[in-house]
Amino acid sequence: MSTPFHASTRADRLEHLEDEPFDLVVIGGGITGAGVARDAAMRGLRVALLEKGDLASGTSSASSKLVHGGLRYLAQGNLSLVFESVSERARLGVLAPHLVRPTPFLMPVWRKAPTRLFLVALALWIYELLALFRVPRLHSTYRGRRALDVVPELQEDGLDGAVLFWDCATDDARLVLETARSAHDAGAWVLPRVAVTGFLSERSHVNGVTARDELTGRTVEVRGKVVVNATGPWTDRTLGLRRQRSRLLRPTKGSHIVLSADRLPLTATVMLPAEDGRTVFAIPSGERIFVGTTDTDYEGDYDRVRVTGDEADWFLSVLNHRFPRAALSRDDVLGSWAGLRPLLRSDGGERDIPRDHAVHEDDDGLVTVAGGKLTTYRLMAQEVVELAARRLRAEGLHVGRCPTGAVLLPGGQGVTRRTGRLVTTLPDGAALEEEARERFGEDVLQHLLEAYGGRWVEVAARTDEHASLGERIDPELPYLWAEVDHAVFEELALTLEDVMRRRTQLQLRARDRGRGVAPRVAARMATLLGWSDQEAQRQLAHWSALVTDQESWRSA
Ligand code: FAD
Repeated sequence: MSTPFHASTRADRLEHLEDEPFDLVVIGGGITGAGVARDAAMRGLRVALLEKGDLASGTSSASSKLVHGGLRYLAQGNLSLVFESVSERARLGVLAPHLVRPTPFLMPVWRKAPTRLFLVALALWIYELLALFRVPRLHSTYRGRRALDVVPELQEDGLDGAVLFWDCATDDARLVLETARSAHDAGAWVLPRVAVTGFLSERSHVNGVTARDELTGRTVEVRGKVVVNATGPWTDRTLGLRRQRSRLLRPTKGSHIVLSADRLPLTATVMLPAEDGRTVFAIPSGERIFVGTTDTDYEGDYDRVRVTGDEADWFLSVLNHRFPRAALSRDDVLGSWAGLRPLLRSDGGERDIPRDHAVHEDDDGLVTVAGGKLTTYRLMAQEVVELAARRLRAEGLHVGRCPTGAVLLPGGQGVTRRTGRLVTTLPDGAALEEEARERFGEDVLQHLLEAYGGRWVEVAARTDEHASLGERIDPELPYLWAEVDHAVFEELALTLEDVMRRRTQLQLRARDRGRGVAPRVAARMATLLGWSDQEAQRQLAHWSALVTDQESWRSA
């Protein structure tokens, strides 16, 4: 039986952390660190992954939630990066079919725009060629008013047409979670809420870290032959723990807001040009529309990145301009999120295309990986582990070849996409789906399939034990109470925020940001994790303060 991915395992392992000689200590539990831990553990290395917050609590739950080639890079002429990204998009679609959801994108062009319709169509041919035409459907061009057949709400005045093409959407936090879960299953010690506070070294060579358990305050030393800094936007700060000033990154902030789909019904992600040349994406996601993003330099607190009132108003003004009948106001904004892009500092100059990511090793042996995106995380991880492997092999260790391109992520087993829809491939899959459809409704079944892949049957089975677990947490959303139990027992949820924000997206999607159900979620977690009443109240107060803070833009 596999070791539970549960708080008790974390607690046990923290007790023994100091005695364990790891081959690799990875700092940072975003997509990059989780990818490195998975790759290394699957090659047989002994791995510790230390994350100061929850898994994916940094940028990796604050993205636009797309697995894409990046048309932007095409415009920059960076064909190799587009090729790499679209190839990984196809591969991830096989490894995690539930988390890589093909979705139509509409790029409308208005006559005054600097981009011409035929150029967009041409770019799409190149985009699809680089993907070796592995797309659900080839793009189509709609001239003039015909674009309104796809999205009738679009501003008609001056509309030259639109191009419809296919890319993919994902749930970023769950992609990290599945990757970390896979690392855990391969033997890695995955330890969220453990912050690295310094480095250990011997003869000027980094051979471990000091860390603090954020739940108890206890400090520990963790030894590893190779230490990897995968701390995303915090990269320079982590390097600074060695008292050396580092300026590898120039993080920029990106914000998003959430609307209800009944206020802006869209059947495709729409790319809207703003008057200042920026592009706003309106991304349908179930009963909600995600709107993003911005890209501005950031100097504030990295642990408190918030949407501002100006950003929310800017999104609303672009939407109201391009969807003239929408008449959206601040009252229509349900949720919001913001994060920092871990962008590499470029050397300047107009033709200077920033590199997507960098892996480098300092003189003291510390390996740093920075930049990149969700889409290409597996390749970045491979590059890091290859570097570590060269060192470990020189010390006589056997390190296998990279297996991650061929092994499905945990929920990838037992489901496949047929004509865009996820279906269960278990022998009795159709009957199981029919039963779930009847019990919970079609939207819940689709949500379970998309969130948990083949493991949806485990979540549904929890409702056999207690019928109440088969009820919806929020009447408008497809989340079941069984998912709280699953988050605690199978997904290493340690705090109320972990469940409200990343195991589910209640905090982003619920009309009241989840305030109404949070006390009951906290009570359920208290029962499952053995919290005292006082601890449950503390969790609730902490989470409520966080949500209030995230909402502070409303009064700005
Ligand atoms: P992070 O996810 O930030 O992980 C770093 C982790 O290190 C954090 O969890 C942090 O808590 C932890 N940490 C920091 N210091 C310490 C310490 N001392 N001890 C322990 N842990 C520590 N990419 C795409 O492919 N598709 C998209 O649609 C997309 N959209 C984006 C939109 C926005 C607005 C942004 C900001 C980015 C987007 N990206 C997208 C890029 C992508 O999200 C990031 O490149 C990626 O998530 C970075 O992952 P990471 O693991 O490197 O960083």
